[in-house]
This record gives sequence, C-alpha cells and structure tokens, in this order.
Amino acid sequence: MQCELCGKECNCRPAIVDGVKMMLCPDCMRHGKGIDVVAKPTTSTKTILQRIKRPKEKDVYKDMNKELVANWNKLIKNAREKRGLSREELGFKIGERTVTISKIENGDLRPSDKVAEKLEKELDINLFEEVGGTPSGFCASHNRGGLTLGDFIKRED
Ligand SMILES: [Zn+2]
Repeated sequence: MQCELCGKECNCRPAIVDGVKMMLCPDCMRHGKGIDVVAKPTTSTKTILQRIKRPKEKDVYKDMNKELVANWNKLIKNAREKRGLSREELGFKIGERTVTISKIENGDLRPSDKVAEKLEKELDINLFEEVGGTPSGFCASHNRGGLTLGDFIKRED
C-alpha cells in the first residue's frame, strides 16, 4: 500500500488529516489523527442498524401523518354523554360490543383506525391529530406525549 501523503510504499494505516480519511505511513502519521480501525466503526454501525431495524417501523410508517389524540378516551366519553347515548346505544350504532366501548372509554383499549373513524363520524369529533415532520421511530412517539406508553398503562380518571 502507498502512503497517501508522501507516496512511500509502506504498511499504511488509516488516519484523519484535516477531516479527510487517508492512508498514512508511520512517518506521516504525526500529521493526522490515527483511527482505531477495530473498535470504533463496529460500534457505530451496530447502533445505526439497531435504529433502522426497529420492529415498530411498519406501524410508524402507517401512522405517519395522523395519530390518535392524547385524551381520546375522555373525548369519546364526553361526546357520547353529550348526545345522551348509552354505551350500548353507541356500540349498536357503530357495530361494536358494549364492552368494547367501555374498554375504549376507560382507556384500556386503543380503538383501531376503523373503529376510531366510526366514532368520529358518529359523535362528530376529531380523534386524530396531524403529526408534523417525519417521526424518527420509537423515541419520537414517546416524546410527543407518551401515546405509546399510554397503551401499556391503565389510565386513571
Ligand atoms: Zn508518508
């Protein structure tokens, strides 16, 4: 291999010279900053791969531009009570079981897109909010108000 700085044939090693990666001979190595070839690249590649291969990727993509509002269960309950509907009546109207409505209103069950859309139409409410920008994965949804966490925690009234 040839040194990229002086052109000398040698056992060159990678180094950073003025921000540019070059192969340097031991003599020229003092001009640049040596790179630890073994440890560093392995770690960063692994981190990037982990980030890309998140299992949630598909869901995130699907819900890219809209997301259930944080207080969806209260919104549904309030709207239903305002209309003087019982859970049975609401369930009948949108073709869901009463127990499903109860679970949704308690926040125990997150309505599917389809059910949420039916509820929106029936109760004339907005259950989805537009999400600006591109979500960068798992952490982003946590930061946006704990919606993902909310799926696992029973909400208290
Ligand atoms: Zn050299």
